[in-house]
Amino acid sequence: MANEITGTTEPGCELCGRVKPLTFHHLIPCAVHRTKRFLARFGKEEMQTRGLNLCSLCHNGIHDLIPKEKELADKYNTKVLLLAHPGVAKHVQWVKKQK
Ligand SMILES: [Zn+2]
Ligand SMILES: [Zn+2]
Repeated sequence: MANEITGTTEPGCELCGRVKPLTFHHLIPCAVHRTKRFLARFGKEEMQTRGLNLCSLCHNGIHDLIPKEKELADKYNTKVLLLAHPGVAKHVQWVKKQK
């Protein structure tokens, strides 16, 4: 399934690899895009384009485990950082086993 936002043809979720309908997770959440601190740190375009295409289980899991948008933007703004969160890593392992 081609993704209109990123132009990638990668068919599966970028965390669990399952082929499912995907939604775009902003690694720097939209809620902080107008915050000066983050604008200075990342720049507007980077904040809009840096993200992952995720299935709903992975995506919801991330926002449940890390509900604070500023924390996501500060500490979990790359895929590697996100997977370094023990809860997220565990969640992804669980999602991989789902149909
Ligand atoms: Zn997934
Ligand atoms: Zn998200």
